[in-house]
Amino acid sequence: MKKVVIVGGGFAGWYTAAVLNKHTDWQITVLESKAYPRLGVGETLGWSAPYDWSRLLGLENDTQLMYETGSSYKYGLTATNFYADNTSYSYGKFFNLKANSLARFYSEFTYPEYHEPWSVRENDIGLQQAWFYFNQHTKKDFNDYIQELNETSYFTSSNSAPYSRDNEYVLRTQEGWSYHIDAENFIKFLKGLCDSNVVLKENKVLGLRRSVSETVLLTSNGPVEADLYIDCSGFQRVLVNSVKEMELTDYNMPTTNSAWVCPTRYDDPHNEIFGGTQIFGEDWGWRFRVNLYHRAGNGCVFDSTQTDPELVKRFIETYTKDKQLFPPKLIQWKPSYVKKPWVGNVLALGISSYFTDPFDAPTFDVHSRNLEDLIKGVTADEFNQKHELVTLERKYRLMYNFSTSKRSGTFWDQQRSLFDESIWLDIMHNRLDNIDSRLTHNWYQMYYRMCVASGYDRTNINLRLNLDQPTQDMVKAFFTYNRARNNFIKSQSWPNLYDWLKNNRFNGEDHTQVLERMIQ
Ligand SMILES: Cc1cc2nc3c(=O)[nH]c(=O)nc-3n(C[C@H](O)[C@H](O)[C@H](O)COP(=O)(O)OP(=O)(O)OC[C@H]3O[C@@H](n4cnc5c(N)ncnc54)[C@H](O)[C@@H]3O)c2cc1C
Repeated sequence: MKKVVIVGGGFAGWYTAAVLNKHTDWQITVLESKAYPRLGVGETLGWSAPYDWSRLLGLENDTQLMYETGSSYKYGLTATNFYADNTSYSYGKFFNLKANSLARFYSEFTYPEYHEPWSVRENDIGLQQAWFYFNQHTKKDFNDYIQELNETSYFTSSNSAPYSRDNEYVLRTQEGWSYHIDAENFIKFLKGLCDSNVVLKENKVLGLRRSVSETVLLTSNGPVEADLYIDCSGFQRVLVNSVKEMELTDYNMPTTNSAWVCPTRYDDPHNEIFGGTQIFGEDWGWRFRVNLYHRAGNGCVFDSTQTDPELVKRFIETYTKDKQLFPPKLIQWKPSYVKKPWVGNVLALGISSYFTDPFDAPTFDVHSRNLEDLIKGVTADEFNQKHELVTLERKYRLMYNFSTSKRSGTFWDQQRSLFDESIWLDIMHNRLDNIDSRLTHNWYQMYYRMCVASGYDRTNINLRLNLDQPTQDMVKAFFTYNRARNNFIKSQSWPNLYDWLKNNRFNGEDHTQVLERMIQ
């Protein structure tokens, strides 16, 4: 039986422990030290969450999880003054169906490509690209794109829940939601999933002693030996710092490095809770608000080399005044990633392996993919190769979202300096041969989507469409259908999300009762 030591008892450490415990018979020791408090943030998850909960943690449904952690549903994002001044967009996960899949609309229309957003089918560019192609010269804007390629937008900005009067889910099951979570309560939940093969010890880790024949963990209570050492120590990177081959690298781009975070209570949860993670562009950076069931999470993200933290602190103080559950806390980091997260029997997971900007928050998604690979038994080389692609993917994701924005302000001016059209066009036309095609495919869509959101002139881009006429007609009909479906869904919804959650996930407990339970 393998002996594994996980350094770090934060979200990353316990997620790793719970997943490995579920899928292996390994003996796992989690080490944490009170000298290093947990981050305690990380509230909005990516689209793979329901899928990850079931396949990695073995959860059959989310009822217990939500009740114990105060989680709420996330149907998407509301971006205000983010892609351009005076704009507000609400959108969820975009369909990535292949146009040819529509042929099975009446028979086995099971959205086969839905789980793998990057899948490419030869000669089939997919619905998103088809939309760009058909609307390159029209006046349709990002809101049209959302209506024709997304079904959850209504629930990201309204207080309704996607359930009919008969309490039937009106969206596609498994596909259309994610979660807003409370990282601290989630840790308790994850601990509860572990059996006696997992033990927790308070022990300060000092580093590693490595030689050709052995690796030993050095701690304040003496040396510890194991078959595998996993660094989940967050920004401390206590193992990464002892392994020279892991090599810490920065992203070579201007990014943020600080955030003020502050949880707040609700005055009127009926009106304040809705299913969208809110993001707002500000002159100095951006801010977020995440609505859990029992409280909201708020954060202001900026670059302290450009903006005085005191200025941002005053800003967050102003709008959280009278509602703060705790005073604002400043979190700072060095935007960076390790080149090789797996060297010998040392592995870095979570934000000890990479972190740039909380906009790329779904750190959790990458962590889940990493754990899946670990369980599958991929080699360290394969793992590191994928990691390189994923970090590149995340970097491009950030660049697309920030540098294509037309928002005014010093932070955005700096981000726009990254905009290099020749790189974008290369990616668009799949000419970057050193990049895995599934990633290229994803970037292509994301880039174009961001340009539509920011209102770029899209007429001069050379798009190709290799679909025959009947397929093209089917695609156009689907866009019309989806727009009508969105209206239909709206007419079917349950009037209030908070009430729905209270009755269906929280046993009738209101937000104050759940808050009391959570802070005990
Ligand atoms: C502002 C902000 C917003 C974010 N938003 C999101 C989001 O919306 N969604 C998302 O998925 N992610 C988000 N993240 C990332 C998310 O917070 C982290 O991925 C998550 O909290 C996991 O953290 P962790 O467990 O790696 O680190 P931590 O919570 O910092 O835990 C580190 C653990 O390591 C232990 N430790 C450290 N050094 C030692 C040592 N020497 N010896 C022993 N133990 C040690 C500590 O005691 C602690 O238990 C955000 C991050 C920030 C900064």
